[in-house]
Amino acid sequence: MVVKDNLRTPIVCVMGHVDHGKTSLLDMIRGSAVVSGEAGAITQHIGATEVPISAIVEKCGNPGLLDKFMVPGLLFIDTPGHHAFTTLRSRGGALADLAVVIVDINEGFKPQTIESLNILQQHKTPFVVVANKIDKIHGWNPQKGAPFMTSYNKQSEHVRGSLDTKFYEVVGELYSNGFSSDRYDRVNDFQHNIGVIPISAITGEGIPDLLMVLLGLAQRFLESNLHYNAEGPGVGTVLEVKEERGLGTTLDLILYDGVLKKGDTIVVGCLGEPIQTKVRAILKPRALSEINVEDKFKQVSKVTAAVGVKISAPHLDGALSGGSVRVATAETLDAVVEEVRNEVEDVQIDTDQSGITIKADTIGSLEALVNELKKEDIPIRKADVGDISNRDIMEAFAIEDPFHSVIVGFNVNILPDAKEKVRSTGVKVFMNDVIYRLIDDYRDWVKEQRAISE
Ligand code: GDP
Repeated sequence: MVVKDNLRTPIVCVMGHVDHGKTSLLDMIRGSAVVSGEAGAITQHIGATEVPISAIVEKCGNPGLLDKFMVPGLLFIDTPGHHAFTTLRSRGGALADLAVVIVDINEGFKPQTIESLNILQQHKTPFVVVANKIDKIHGWNPQKGAPFMTSYNKQSEHVRGSLDTKFYEVVGELYSNGFSSDRYDRVNDFQHNIGVIPISAITGEGIPDLLMVLLGLAQRFLESNLHYNAEGPGVGTVLEVKEERGLGTTLDLILYDGVLKKGDTIVVGCLGEPIQTKVRAILKPRALSEINVEDKFKQVSKVTAAVGVKISAPHLDGALSGGSVRVATAETLDAVVEEVRNEVEDVQIDTDQSGITIKADTIGSLEALVNELKKEDIPIRKADVGDISNRDIMEAFAIEDPFHSVIVGFNVNILPDAKEKVRSTGVKVFMNDVIYRLIDDYRDWVKEQRAISE
């Protein structure tokens, strides 16, 4: 096998409109339907799933391809949605090296499809589009887990015609959003020419093709990004900050460069001064065969990128999801602290003199919300990470302009004691986990208020 040992596994994120099949696709990739037989097994990470190249090549029925690809496989982030994509940053911008935009072939583009495309364009992330739910096309004869062309060739002429029509509607919508595209097997330029792959996340048809195209994309566009230093200091991004019984506060993180060892000194991003601590334990999920073991994690002493792990360490309270984790040595500590501090400051938001208050769960999601609000010319007075607090309500209440006496919360809650304040002050609060809905709701409300006051 010609897997270069200094090319790491590309990190892939699945995005798209709600209900178009993100979760089902990730489940299908995780499930055994993708891999059978002797090929390398799928590995479950914390927050991610790794599909080894041998499994992909076997499923496509072309073992000769093994020598063509140099990446070890694909690492799928388990949390679907552009929320995850925008929140998860790495040194160069977004954490994901590649993305899959999923579209229900029967429904076509929806607001979150377009939002996803905008985000990918902004980050210059190579991606493919999958046209999902082909099995729902009337008369479709499912070919479980087969490559797309195998399934396609087994359909009646009428069904093939229906698929082609719907397929070219998706291609047309991509075109009207500024991308040209073609059936993936004829695509040769993924920056402008986007591959569209028909799949079913339920029967698994087309998924081998998707995996193969992703490998091709990684090979073509990412080779230089994927070089890592297998002995260098670990660098990762926090997926989630979680309390675990017996472990206290833990971090689920994706290590995208270097090595992380038990006992390493790490610097962790947070809103105040970066946290400096020592890795107490590195935890991986137990394999399915070990599922009866009481503890759901097993400890390892060392991991190498790209990998998803949980770590436990003292003093992790306040760690920022979407923030970075960097290994430091006695010599590099000051510089690393400075670097992590700058990473957090870099995404701090320019605010307006007067405007609405916005809150989001992570710096990345805050930034995504700010970008969308700026496009809509909605001014922002205060932008902050965390749940909506008493103080947010009181500050918003003090604003004279009634259209700015408003709090917009993306992926956050209202703290219990602030709920009463919302009632007593009448400050308008909008909360949602979808950006375009927040913006629509705010605009509808403004329109309504204007109509009432006229
Ligand atoms: P998400 O909101 O994008 O994560 O979408 P889900 O994966 O939860 O899917 C939404 C619904 O569509 C669920 O009821 C799925 O079972 C269904 N679904 C997803 N993919 C397919 C598919 O390929 N074929 C069919 N028939 N149903 C699908």
